[in-house]
Amino acid sequence: MSLQVNLRHLEEHGIHLEGELPAAELDLGVNDELIRAEQPLRYDLSVELLHDAVLVTGSLALPLDCECGRCLKKFKTELKLSGWAAHLPLEGEDKVPVDNDCVDLTPFVREDILLNFPQHPLCKPDCAGLKPKGRARKVEAAEKPAAAVWAELDKLKIK
Ligand SMILES: [Zn+2]
Repeated sequence: MSLQVNLRHLEEHGIHLEGELPAAELDLGVNDELIRAEQPLRYDLSVELLHDAVLVTGSLALPLDCECGRCLKKFKTELKLSGWAAHLPLEGEDKVPVDNDCVDLTPFVREDILLNFPQHPLCKPDCAGLKPKGRARKVEAAEKPAAAVWAELDKLKIK
């Protein structure tokens, strides 16, 4: 169930591919605790045959289950490539492998998904994270000994 295009089907006119690519087929090989891509990638693509290449244009969307890098909150997001395009040469040095008249689009999809993969997922762009709380606690902790010292001084004064 990988994402294949049969060149013979393209000879007369372009085709439209729409569907889902299971995470196992996409096989991103990403081992990130904060970002999990376990749901299928949705694709909506137009494929046409140029005289020496295949042109694929359309959109890719991959749902991601993330954990915010700052506040550790779990959230869902989607990696969307709405104007995705791949130009796959059929001749020359960079020509793509053709197997039984079929070109597998999966490696090209995988490559661009990885290039656009979020590096530091945040639940929202301005997430303040856990830091302010941590700082507040430290301030409190610092105040207590100071207060205790003043209390000791007060006692001394009384004496
Ligand atoms: Zn957050």
